[in-house]
Amino acid sequence: MIRSDRALILRRFAYGETSLVLHVLTPSFGRVHLLAKGAYRPTSRYYAVLDLFDTLELEWSHAAGRELDTLRAGDLARRRLAISSDLFRYRAGLAALELAGLAAQEGQPVRGLFARLEHVLDELAEARIDARLALSAFELGFLAELGLAPALARCAACGRVAPPAASPRASSVFSPGAGGRLCRRCAEEARASGRRVFALSTRTLELAAELANDGPEALVGRISDAELEKVRAFVVRFLEYHLESRPKSYRRTVGGVAGAPGFATP
Ligand SMILES: [Zn+2]
Repeated sequence: MIRSDRALILRRFAYGETSLVLHVLTPSFGRVHLLAKGAYRPTSRYYAVLDLFDTLELEWSHAAGRELDTLRAGDLARRRLAISSDLFRYRAGLAALELAGLAAQEGQPVRGLFARLEHVLDELAEARIDARLALSAFELGFLAELGLAPALARCAACGRVAPPAASPRASSVFSPGAGGRLCRRCAEEARASGRRVFALSTRTLELAAELANDGPEALVGRISDAELEKVRAFVVRFLEYHLESRPKSYRRTVGGVAGAPGFATP
């Protein structure tokens, strides 16, 4: 059976002297595992096409029950070379690919996730938006695709609209287990029933809500570096709460910059 689709490479491994094994994400078929025979031979039909971060047009033959499908042809649809020239953008890109790979299953369409992944890779390649902001927006979108978006503007328990921050230092009650922010009454009930709740800066939650609703462009020039670090730390903590293990790209920091793209929070 011949299949074709757009694709983004999630991971790739050398296979023998000249071949590659690719794990790719496709909008229609979800995760696909491919053998690219002779990928390193200059005469190959997809020589120098199979790079991370680029949107590809792939054609492959699929056989039910076989572990690897066989790549037949590959073309570049969108090149994003610039991502690899900046360490922060590169690592943010890897983090986005890794997250997408965690959610995608074989044979299950992931059109929304694929579109979000292409979008964040475009932003990282264009380099107009801080990589931390772009990646945080992707992570919030990723959670939304999984139905795990945190309640940021409303109470996660009763749905009442949360009051805006009374002062820049105001804090709100947040419960990852309840799915987000809690109003005062629901926070008391949560505490009484022994659920873990945290106090978080209301400003941080409001900025995260804006990021989730309006995208990173909306915050360019309006968010300070300190605020961005807090939003980043909040999003990563919430993300890690929902993932069973910490993704590899989130385990290290570069230059000790906490909350830098794709990095673990302190
Ligand atoms: Zn409530």
